[in-house]
Amino acid sequence: MKKLFKRQPPKMPLIDIQLNELPDHVIFCSNCVTSNQRPRITFDENNVCSACQYARAKEHTINWTERETMLQDLLDQHRSKDGSYDVIVPSSGGKDSGYVAYQLKHEYGMHPLTVTWAPFLYTEIGRKNYDSMVQSGYDNIFFYPDGITHRKLARIAFECNGDSWDPFAWGQKAFSIHMALKFQVPLVFYGENGELEYGGSSKYLNKPYEDINDWQYFYFRGNGVTELARIGKEYDVFSSDEIKNSSFDIYKAPPLEAIDKSGVQMHWFSFYKKWIPQENYYCAVENTGFNNNDERSEGTYTKYSSIDDKTDGFHFWLGYLKFGMGRTTRDASMEIRSQHITREEAIALVNRYDGEFPKKHFKAFLGYLDLPEQRFWDITEKLRSQHLWDKIQNEWKFKYPLE
Ligand SMILES: [Zn+2]
Repeated sequence: MKKLFKRQPPKMPLIDIQLNELPDHVIFCSNCVTSNQRPRITFDENNVCSACQYARAKEHTINWTERETMLQDLLDQHRSKDGSYDVIVPSSGGKDSGYVAYQLKHEYGMHPLTVTWAPFLYTEIGRKNYDSMVQSGYDNIFFYPDGITHRKLARIAFECNGDSWDPFAWGQKAFSIHMALKFQVPLVFYGENGELEYGGSSKYLNKPYEDINDWQYFYFRGNGVTELARIGKEYDVFSSDEIKNSSFDIYKAPPLEAIDKSGVQMHWFSFYKKWIPQENYYCAVENTGFNNNDERSEGTYTKYSSIDDKTDGFHFWLGYLKFGMGRTTRDASMEIRSQHITREEAIALVNRYDGEFPKKHFKAFLGYLDLPEQRFWDITEKLRSQHLWDKIQNEWKFKYPLE
């Protein structure tokens, strides 16, 4: 891949605010394998995490019949009579978005426009799954952001937030709202409320949609594109001309007044229908041509989740350094909650795979960010939260291994 910089920019400061908010003492959930280091997660008096509490509520207390009626009512208000688009569905062609698009189109008679924010570096299987989804009968708008701007933002996010994934997350979130305004389709359906399903804030426990004002904290780590662009200018990543000529608007939610005026609302499908990843998988395989990978993803034992982008493995691995939990913890916790594996099996999987370095795409990752390998190691070394890691004979040891 072409170099981004004639001369490497100076080192940038690490400013991820989440790292300052981690509890000093590590507690693991008594039901799954997630700990209290996950940002915004809470625990009850029996040390059950908020994601496991929510999983129990999904089984026992949430009235799904009532929610189904709410969904029908909402869709009845929006369904077009002339076949024009009536719902925007952000879709990658993965199992979850494939399931949502299929349900809305075929079970509820809606006319979705699917919209896709490109991954940084497509994997072969990711691109195939995207093509299969479109070929199985969905209108789609695919968006690639300016490659140089995107790579530079990813590089700044890697150094400042300890994760190059941020520009993808911002765009994925904001792009569908931009399209909703552009096409004047006021209903946007996302898949699951990740804060509830995987552990995080319970603010929207009983609400089908969130306030866009919360994005900054939930998804942008307090440091959205404006702040990172400013740092980029200060540290010679962006030239004055680049800053002057870039609005970065596509990475931000549209102005709130415009959203209010248009009446655009973003709903979670998981609020209305019980979210079961395995069932989404079967639905997507059957109806949108989804295929899993033929080998497990590095850092976990699964083959079907987050497989579109060659850089995904680093997002999870960097999380492992910061929070002591990687990709296996995430997958295994979900599978405990849906009763596919036991906690003992999950612990064995975590001890075997969590934190495995994603070496397969390491070269591609460094090339994408135009990042010298030594600088990668210098930056990642600093991400290891001190209360979680000991360095013994030049090797990092996690202080709280699961037993
Ligand atoms: Zn739990």
